[in-house]
Amino acid sequence: MTLAVSPISDYLKSLHASLQSNDDGEVATYIPELGLADPGSFGICIATVDGQVYTAGDVDRRFTIQSMSKPFIYGYALHTHGMETVLKRVGVEPTGESFNSIVLDQVSNRPYNPMVNAGAIAVTSLVEGETADRRYDEMMRYFGLFAGRDLDIDESVFRSEHATGHRNRAIAYMMLNTGMLDRDPEDVLELYFKQCSISVDCRDMAVMAATLAAQGTNPVTGETVLEPDHVRDVLTVMSTCGMYDYAGQWAFDVGVPAKSGVSGGVIAVIPGQLGIAVYSPPLDRVGNSVRGVEACKKISHDFSLHVFDGRTDVHSVIRREYTAADVPSKRVRSMWERDMLADHGKRLSVMEIQGALFFGSAEKFLRRLTEIAREGRTVIVDFKRAAYADRTAIELICQTALVLSSGDCTIVFTELSGKEELQGLKSALEERVGSSPRVRLVSDTDLAIELFEDEILAETDFSLYDRILPLAEIDIFDGLSKDDLQRLSGVATTFQYAAGDKIISEGDDARVFFVVARGSVSVSVTVDGSRTRRIGSVGQGAPFGEMALLDGGKRSADVIADVPVICYLFSVERLREMSDEAPAILPTILGNLVRILSDRLRLANDEIRALQ
Ligand code: GLU
Repeated sequence: MTLAVSPISDYLKSLHASLQSNDDGEVATYIPELGLADPGSFGICIATVDGQVYTAGDVDRRFTIQSMSKPFIYGYALHTHGMETVLKRVGVEPTGESFNSIVLDQVSNRPYNPMVNAGAIAVTSLVEGETADRRYDEMMRYFGLFAGRDLDIDESVFRSEHATGHRNRAIAYMMLNTGMLDRDPEDVLELYFKQCSISVDCRDMAVMAATLAAQGTNPVTGETVLEPDHVRDVLTVMSTCGMYDYAGQWAFDVGVPAKSGVSGGVIAVIPGQLGIAVYSPPLDRVGNSVRGVEACKKISHDFSLHVFDGRTDVHSVIRREYTAADVPSKRVRSMWERDMLADHGKRLSVMEIQGALFFGSAEKFLRRLTEIAREGRTVIVDFKRAAYADRTAIELICQTALVLSSGDCTIVFTELSGKEELQGLKSALEERVGSSPRVRLVSDTDLAIELFEDEILAETDFSLYDRILPLAEIDIFDGLSKDDLQRLSGVATTFQYAAGDKIISEGDDARVFFVVARGSVSVSVTVDGSRTRRIGSVGQGAPFGEMALLDGGKRSADVIADVPVICYLFSVERLREMSDEAPAILPTILGNLVRILSDRLRLANDEIRALQ
């Protein structure tokens, strides 16, 4: 998808316009067919790691991939044969020689690196298949995965290159001589020339570069083409050897892995962010596209993309910290429970983690986690806003949890479920520290706070929970006379529910309200039409469905019994009918309800303040 209006599209268009008039450089002619390219043709394309494509100029103009094929076929070789086998055939040293030099490493006989012709030819010889046709199909299949579409070759460029590529022939025969090729050189060369003649456009190349930026997963098709470890290897040789004899200056000026080709294309990869492709045939002295280099320099500078721009941020890994005294659970609790928890809530700290977890950011938040835990507190580590954890972060988190769990604090990891990027962390924690009684994994933070509060309350006087609370001890009936309480109990119906029973359904008419006499219930709403999200719970002595007393509208949430529950149920109409014989009942209940609701509002305000 291309955005019609965007600052990035506008930027690319003006960059394109500003470079169009630069007509320095010469179109390559050593492959005669390449000399036919239109020197004015010029396209720029950026593809992001989530598949957004921005374009300017001739982005649909076809050209041959040439040396820009080299990183991808190197990726293929690593993927298919593994690093060890590939390293026997080709090294990773920059040469300082031209791309078509006929030199091999004196000691190992290997070509220096896979970005020069000798190295690339050695790599192409590793394409698998019984016959030449099969090897060709295999190669095209792989390039197609990177581009996200089936690709063809430009037959006339292929024939032209085949007819004139004697220097490459010399290189191939020399490698046959030193044992670096173990196939018929003519066969390998034919495939190599075809590889260089693959016909692409700027958009294809940007998507291919973005696939490397996205750790090997094509951002348009979602298909994984190359493992992250091999992407790293490919990007490394692109960084050191990708721009012919300009690699050092390029690293200095642009500072991102890149590869150019003699047809006038340049691709650049900004890991984790985007792929850039530029096409403009006139080349400079070392064989790089003049406008291509200029465009990449500008984009890198203007968008601060140089890898050493120091963008990696470890400082904001802790989004915020609060205690259960600042932000209690959403559970509706009676007054005495809240008083109790206000004193003890400071014993629980919540740390919200955000962004990417790698060595630097993990080290920072784990240092703070250790500090709090050593004070003997319970710590909830909330990963709701964490983006991903690499293997180093996973290892450090597991090790810290293991060490801390042998002390006297409890660590609770929350919000790890259902997130693909954090699946590795979740499984590692389950496997390595899941059996420790002091480390827990709980689905959501509110539930974890509630469990902590329950433990605090249980420490105080558990017997209080085990009985059916009489009406006289219920906040919402505070201030009623003995007689009125008597009358009220006459109209109360007592209901029992099993754990999991639905007591109220969203959308039902609200004509009655409830008070929990024993047990607790959860309140949940439907989000996105199907998912349910638990938004709070109601414990012993607290009312639910009480809005029936105020507006008599529809129920706004489901209420489900958490455990076996006993509730009192009151019909609002019945209470109204009692107004003549007992005029104080309804006003007293409503007065208490207003107090309870304003109290909840105050708590919500405190919470908003604490979370700011
Ligand atoms: N097919 C070209 C050759 O082998 C590729 C050169 C390049 O793009 O650097 O000479």
